[in-house]
Amino acid sequence: MGEQSEVPLIDRIKRFFRKKEQGKKQAGTKSTLPAPAVAQVEVTTRCNLKCTMCPRTHFSGEKNVDFPFEVFESFSASFPKLNHVHLQGWGEPLLHPRIFDMAALVTQNQCRVGFTTNGSLLDDRVIAEILRLPVHHVAVSVAGADDAVHGAIRVGSNLDTLLGRVANLVDARNAAGQSEPAVHLSYMMTRKSAAGLPEMVRKAHEIGVDRLVAPNLDCPVTIEEEEERIFGFGEPEKAIEKVLDEARILANDKKLRLSVYPLKFSDEILVCELNPLTQFFVNVHGDVAPCPYASLMGRTPYDRYFLGETVPSQPLVFGSLVEASMEAVWQNEEYRKFRVQYWNRRTAYDNLSKSRTSIHSVFGLQDYIREIDRVLAQYPVPPFCRTCYKAFGA
Ligand code: SF4
Repeated sequence: MGEQSEVPLIDRIKRFFRKKEQGKKQAGTKSTLPAPAVAQVEVTTRCNLKCTMCPRTHFSGEKNVDFPFEVFESFSASFPKLNHVHLQGWGEPLLHPRIFDMAALVTQNQCRVGFTTNGSLLDDRVIAEILRLPVHHVAVSVAGADDAVHGAIRVGSNLDTLLGRVANLVDARNAAGQSEPAVHLSYMMTRKSAAGLPEMVRKAHEIGVDRLVAPNLDCPVTIEEEEERIFGFGEPEKAIEKVLDEARILANDKKLRLSVYPLKFSDEILVCELNPLTQFFVNVHGDVAPCPYASLMGRTPYDRYFLGETVPSQPLVFGSLVEASMEAVWQNEEYRKFRVQYWNRRTAYDNLSKSRTSIHSVFGLQDYIREIDRVLAQYPVPPFCRTCYKAFGA
């Protein structure tokens, strides 16, 4: 894991402001662990594509399982306490025969619902169902701005056909005078695809999607995928930085919301983006994990990669919705201990920032940054997260 080295001052200052920003966004007033707010449910592990970066393509785990509808029904008693349920795991959600019954159960329980899809089944019937509920949020995955790149990564998908379907969804929504679903494109950033981001900004704008998100390949499960990663502890490649700048400028001109992730990171952030303090993942068996990266293929052990090394992993789950309610699983002692590690970190940082009301010089800022590092070192992220790129802002 030799990518980590002495961090230059400018990077330390940048990451200080990143933490400060995150501190503001995630700040809470509670002195106890927060309640759950967002659930991601793996409705199926079936899929009709063979994407090169997907664990499903490489692992022999449970590949063709549907989430039991009756378990989803009993889980729905907890939905009024949540804000959002996202129906997606390591499979294509539209393949579940009762996906829209599930989505309806969510909306009937005063909760927002969304899903991420490979778009292959987004035909007129499915679009009509989405608008009827309505589903609040639909994200469609793409992996290149031309079909040669997209089709080589998302094997079995054709880019033009896919974007045509997304355009149909946006047009149908607009024609119906509805503001929902919000339609996002999710553009996987790899060495192969990064150069196409500006072109994808153009295409996304043309179609009229609400947002283009460009997530990193942040959970590589083969060494080939690990080598496709464009981010890390070292200096980013100039050519990739240039492409990101070009995409940002273009998106700004076109007033398209574009989200890209940092290419360089140096230490663990306060709480990862998937915020396990309030969010959780339910795998296809009903097992509850802090995030989808903690349960890649049901109950089967798996390998992931971190800084060029294999990380053999056991699924990190804390209870089952088949055996207990969401509220009971959430209070499971081991699960609480996991969240407390993040909570202590947050709280230590909040207390420190409250104690420093003003900084008068660069030296003062340097001292403060050192103090933050010292305090956070006392409250590291949980062991499982230390080899996850999301813990470093990827
Ligand atoms: S750091 Fe990674 S493994 Fe840990 S909760 Fe976040 S996404 Fe999951």
